[in-house]
Amino acid sequence: MTNLQNPVMGAKLFKWPKGTITQLFGANVVLYQKAIGTNGHNGIDIVAAEGTPILASQGTICEVKNTPEGYGKHIRILTEPDIYGDYLELTFGHLRDIIVNIGDKVIDGQMIGGMGNTGFVISGSTQYWGNAPAGRGVHLHWGARECNLKNTGWQTQYSSGKTAYIKNDLQKQVNRLTQIVELYKRVLNLLNLLKK
Ligand SMILES: [Zn+2]
Repeated sequence: MTNLQNPVMGAKLFKWPKGTITQLFGANVVLYQKAIGTNGHNGIDIVAAEGTPILASQGTICEVKNTPEGYGKHIRILTEPDIYGDYLELTFGHLRDIIVNIGDKVIDGQMIGGMGNTGFVISGSTQYWGNAPAGRGVHLHWGARECNLKNTGWQTQYSSGKTAYIKNDLQKQVNRLTQIVELYKRVLNLLNLLKK
């Protein structure tokens, strides 16, 4: 899959480098359960050249951290709540460098770092845990989760000290909606066939 612009519907808000999408949400359940204990891949992987600019969506930087066993050097952004109190937590993982700090307000399209291969990355059939050689496994891990001001859901704390409650995984929800729309289309096609 090349240059798939928006796996997330209607998402003018989301920006990521032009590149090849190598892994979608929910992929490789067995591998990720074994390696990091998650129920499949929990984001989207985009491959481009090392150092490719990573661009923000508008919000506040809530986490700047280096976790070798996970996302490596990564940034998390919390967007502003909408009228229902819903907002998003966006994750940008495996960066080579980071040029923002915790608490910074960032605007749409602002450069926040460069693509890299820090943290847990896979190149070919080899898994690296924060020690990938130069040029191996370079990609951006991009994730989106929906939070809510009503404080229902799964609690998570950032390196800024801020706490958020994760309501659901946005990408999981979008996958489900996409399936429903596809099913609906199929039913309509069937009805049209019957009419003929
Ligand atoms: Zn990933």
